[in-house]
Amino acid sequence: MARTMARLTRREIPHAKWCARDHRCGITEHRSADLTADGIGGRAWLTRVRAADVDYIEIRARIPLHSNEKVARWQLATALHLMRELLAEVVPRIARLQHRDPLQAIDRRAA
Ligand SMILES: [Zn+2]
Repeated sequence: MARTMARLTRREIPHAKWCARDHRCGITEHRSADLTADGIGGRAWLTRVRAADVDYIEIRARIPLHSNEKVARWQLATALHLMRELLAEVVPRIARLQHRDPLQAIDRRAA
């Protein structure tokens, strides 16, 4: 029920100065062209997105995993660790307080 109400109250938002203004944009979400970071053997894409009243960075990456399972697991663990560090570095403390995930708040209360 709450989800249905949220959908009904969505309003159209205008293009941003930075958005792609093409098929990547929708009525309720606007997206920039991808910013590409090439590294040795991998590639990552950053996209600026505006949904409702919130702008955020969407990050995708393709990083080849080693054929050795042990090394591949180390790669996954390292990538996860560095993503956590990235979030801690890039998300300002004030934004973390303002945009706290409501599900995390529920989990905290339940614990
Ligand atoms: Zn747009």
